[in-house]
Order: sequence, then structure tokens, then C-alpha cells
Amino acid sequence: MDTNLLIRYESNYMKLYIVGTPIGNLEDISLRALRILKEVDFVLCEDTRVTRVLLDKYEIKTPTISYFQHSGLTKVNQIIDLLKNGKNLALVSDAGTPGISDPGNKLIELVLKELPEVRIEPIPGACAAICALSISGLPTDKFIFYGFLPHKKGKETILKEIISNKFTSVFYESTHRILKTLGKLKDLGLMDKQVVVCREVTKKFETTYRGKIEEVLENLEKDVTKGEFVVIIS
Ligand code: SAM
Repeated sequence: MDTNLLIRYESNYMKLYIVGTPIGNLEDISLRALRILKEVDFVLCEDTRVTRVLLDKYEIKTPTISYFQHSGLTKVNQIIDLLKNGKNLALVSDAGTPGISDPGNKLIELVLKELPEVRIEPIPGACAAICALSISGLPTDKFIFYGFLPHKKGKETILKEIISNKFTSVFYESTHRILKTLGKLKDLGLMDKQVVVCREVTKKFETTYRGKIEEVLENLEKDVTKGEFVVIIS
């Protein structure tokens, strides 16, 4: 029998759950995610203070362990030892689906290398890119997700690629760079394509900007440009 199937059907292996959490509104979490967060031995968090707010809201007392982008091998080995000792773990990120433009995927890669028999299960939840795509009104049958664009080297090449893409392009952008990046897209010749910028999705100041790059830039410049952004280009 294929070993992958064996792994799939063996029920009492230790488990690592990849749990999707809200991207702003703390109500956006599934009943299953809440149950798993209660039942596991430890919750691995990017920032334990951020996750504690969520856990406290739902009176979840599970102890947390921090795991972030620059966690060294010692931390990874500690997590692997917990799994080896039969502990069940849940991995969450500060917001959304772990592993999507955050440190989760590196941990999964390392765990799989060391413990290929571990059961890794997704507990679906919010993802900023997918939420934004769902309200974009742009074609979503084929899209390219760029995550965060590089800050300097290679950025212009990717922006040019986005301009000439046949498919919808999606990327994440920060407060500090949103105007600069959109300005650069305009300068590089993004003219008639439809642009959708989703700011603070599911949060108090949620705003969606739609139109040609010029209109979107004009409206964004007038507005407060604080917050988190997903940019979608047709
Ligand atoms: N893993 C997350 C997910 O599933 O969407 C993404 C994590 S990434 C480190 C954080 C980036 O996602 C932010 O800089 C922003 O671009 C985007 N993002 C996260 N939450 C958002 C929100 N509520 N509204 C708009 N963009 C958001």
C-alpha cells in the first residue's frame, strides 16, 4: 500500500493542526477551530500576545508557544520533540491562514523532514487574499498570488509582470508602501486594467477602492492610508 495512504488512515499519530484564525473580526472563526484550540496540548503562535486576545475571548486556556519567522532550530527541535512525545499541536498565525505569506510553511517543511509520519490537518479559516478576491468582482477562475512583493531588488520586474498578466494578480501590501507601489504601477504603464484595493477587511475601517489605477490612487491619497491592504489587478 502507498505509505501516504497508510499515514492518512492511522488515527493515533500525533497531530499538527494548521488552524485558520480571523483577519480582524474575532467572530470569523469556525466552531471546529475553537474546539481544536481547546483540545490540543499547545498552540504555536507567531505572537502569543495577539493570539491570547483570541483565546481569551473564547475562554480557551491552552498554553501557547511562540514560533515566528526568526525562530531558530532550537525552537523547531522543541516543537518536533513535543510531537515525538505524542503531543497534539495547533499552529496559528497572527491573522488568517498559517503558511500563506507567514512563517507557517517553513515549520511544516521542517516537521515533515524530521517526522514524515506526523498528521498535518488544515482547519480552514479566513485568508485575506481569498476574502478580497471574493468581493473583487474580477475573474477568479485563474489568479496569481504574489504574497508580499520584494521591497527593492526584483520589484520592478514583478510589477511589469503584473501589468502584462493575462490572469488576475493578487498581492499583499503594507501601509508604508501602498501608495508608492501603486504609483510605480501607474508609472510603469498600468492604464486601463481594473484595480481593487481592499483595506482592513472585516475590521472597523474596512474600505474597498475600485477603478482604474489613477482613480484608486486619487481616492487612497485623500483617505487615511493606515491599515493592511490586499491589491487585486484584473
Ligand atoms: N496568513 C495571512 C492570510 O491568510 O491572509 C496573511 C499574513 S501576512 C503576514 C499579512 C498581510 O496580509 C498584511 O500585510 C496584509 O497585506 C494582508 N492582510 C491581513 N489581514 C488583512 C485585512 N484584514 N485586510 C487587508 N489585508 C489584510
